Amino acid sequence: MPDSGRGAADAVVLDASVLTMDPALPYAEALAITGGRISHVGGRNEVAELIGPATDVIEAGGRVACPGFVDIHTHTDLDLFRDPEHLLFKNYLMQGITTVLAGNCGMSEMAPGELLARLDLHPPAVNFGTLAGHGYVRGACGIPAGLEDLSGEQIEAMKGVFEKAMADGAFGMSTGLEYIPGLSSRTAELIACATVVAEHGGFYASHMRSEGDHLLAAVEEAIRIGRDSGARVQLSHLKTDGACNWWKTDAVIGAIEAARADGIDVAGDQYPYRFFGWNPSIFIPGEHLAAGKPTLKSTYLRDPGHRRRIKAGIVDRIARYHGGDGDLVVVFDWTDGRGQRWQGTSLSRILTERGVTPTPEEVAELILEMLPDERDDAVMGTDLSTNDDAVRRYLSLPYLAVCTDGFNQPWLAPCHPRSYGAFPKVLGEYVREKRTLPLETALQKMTSLPASLMGLEDRGILRAGMRADVVVFDEATVGERATFEAPAAPAGIDFVLVNGVVTVDRRTAAADVFRLGTGSGQGGPGMVLRRPNRSASAAL
Ligand SMILES: [Zn+2]
Repeated sequence: MPDSGRGAADAVVLDASVLTMDPALPYAEALAITGGRISHVGGRNEVAELIGPATDVIEAGGRVACPGFVDIHTHTDLDLFRDPEHLLFKNYLMQGITTVLAGNCGMSEMAPGELLARLDLHPPAVNFGTLAGHGYVRGACGIPAGLEDLSGEQIEAMKGVFEKAMADGAFGMSTGLEYIPGLSSRTAELIACATVVAEHGGFYASHMRSEGDHLLAAVEEAIRIGRDSGARVQLSHLKTDGACNWWKTDAVIGAIEAARADGIDVAGDQYPYRFFGWNPSIFIPGEHLAAGKPTLKSTYLRDPGHRRRIKAGIVDRIARYHGGDGDLVVVFDWTDGRGQRWQGTSLSRILTERGVTPTPEEVAELILEMLPDERDDAVMGTDLSTNDDAVRRYLSLPYLAVCTDGFNQPWLAPCHPRSYGAFPKVLGEYVREKRTLPLETALQKMTSLPASLMGLEDRGILRAGMRADVVVFDEATVGERATFEAPAAPAGIDFVLVNGVVTVDRRTAAADVFRLGTGSGQGGPGMVLRRPNRSASAAL
């Protein structure tokens, strides 16, 4: 590089309100990037001196520059290799997310070692780490869905798979205790697995057994698993689900605070919405789901008495959780048996359009009709899932990271808007409009907090030597624009850099400011993350 000035930076961000998340230097005006790392953070003039002929100069025009967002709770591993589009992580980068942790809620498609090795060959556009899903591990050990009491050999087999996963770089284990097969697991099984994970310095992330009716017992179980295994506990997408359960938010926070005061390392994550997103099986009472969906569909639902009990369970849940209103359950994408596609509509509206009166029983019948064979369809309870009070209360907890709980989406496919806008929504709605928390606090919960919860030592803070993951956004306009009906890119996210590579660039004249190409064989700028090995780093 003959003409680039000696010591010149690869890129600089000038005239920014730099929020570094570094207690030693919280605020600055500019930063420089060299070799994929932050090389300088400071005043405008000192950084301007690092500009050479080849330096990419990003004029921030007073906008905020901060570390790239770290999303500790995603499902972005699912469908990852379906096509090259998925490796671009466009719906993540467009919201400023530069690092994702996948494998949550007990779900994985393959062993962490295999997943990470495949990504080594096809580098993703964001930095990518994964947990080992307990449901996956149970399946990999050949344990039938519905089996509650495992043999000693079965437990040992699972511990062996977790051992391997941790050695291969998983950040910990995840559970999906409302799902098949997690809902059949005993606490002792989870403690045995979490103990292996803890020995490797990993953490225990849990989609708990209940987010509503049995929420308090579920929180206590997660805390007990942390206490008995020694693993740090990550409560996944914390919420208080169901109108009949909203009073529990205080008690949930009280239980977490008490455990923390007792020395148990409990933290968590949250997506900032009042509605959840999952497929219709969430409405099926657990005792009918445990044996697996094939049994549910081929046996239980064919027996009239059993079918009646299942329907009664669905009607009861909709009555207590959603005030009995089928209008509050939104379908974001479903093609019915008659070939008709429904998007961004409610269960009640589907029934009405079919000429059926939307009674609770008919709503339940429709949910049974929607039961997916795979993870294709989804419904969402709207306003009456979690209430805004709970969203704000949880958002105010300094140890709860912001997350998407989202999926890696082909661009603008219909889905829960959290996959397109969870992080900008916090900045637009809960920081700017509702003033629930200050900007700096919100950003900590998107950057340095999740980075430290994952044990990442070189991300989440803008400081010389750290990896150059950077977001530049406009405080005045940042916000979510996706809805159920119409997915959209968020507003106000102007520049996103991953390991120093510009992936979102507001300077491009085209409407689409996304800069990475599709289908190229070169791979993205993200790094494949493996859990930092404590003993290895201690030996250095
Ligand atoms: Zn979950």
